[in-house]
Amino acid sequence: MAKKYLVVVDRNKCIACGVAPALAPEIFELGGDNGKNKVREPYETETTAEESKGIIPEELYEKAMQAVENCPVEAIRVTPIEE
Ligand code: SF4
Repeated sequence: MAKKYLVVVDRNKCIACGVAPALAPEIFELGGDNGKNKVREPYETETTAEESKGIIPEELYEKAMQAVENCPVEAIRVTPIEE
């Protein structure tokens, strides 16, 4: 079975710089609620004002990691999901 990854955005840390959606528009967008980064459909599983979570397929892992590595406040975490 293909590997999947859990993506978590700490929206309290996010400063809405726009880097994450620019580097990985398939995964991230700035939310219409508070303007901070969130995981977008169809990968989003849960988003609150504090945190946004989603599950991405392996094909998007490298893109997600670009956002992780370039986020100026280290607000994004990507971890493999055991299946
Ligand atoms: S790169 Fe970091 S600070 Fe910038 S929008 Fe993404 S999560 Fe927010």
